[in-house]
Amino acid sequence: MMADAHAAAAPAPGSFRTTCPYCGTGCGVLVTPDGSGGMAVKGDPDHPANRGRLCSKGSALGETLRKCPKLCARRWPS
Ligand code: SF4
Repeated sequence: MMADAHAAAAPAPGSFRTTCPYCGTGCGVLVTPDGSGGMAVKGDPDHPANRGRLCSKGSALGETLRKCPKLCARRWPS
């Protein structure tokens, strides 16, 4: 059996892969929770769309994932 030369390496323990939601390019992102409600974000070097790079919006993703009690709170009609 041949190894897949294009297989992505597993992310570091505690990190996970996701996709930037800001535009249709769909850049790959590696996210690592910092343990205090925030996330460290960097481009996924194994993603074919961006090869580890992120634009200014994608680079700021971590700032939008901070605790946001007003924006993230669900409100249901009573
Ligand atoms: S990092 Fe920039 S180019 Fe990539 S998906 Fe996000 S907004 Fe689009």
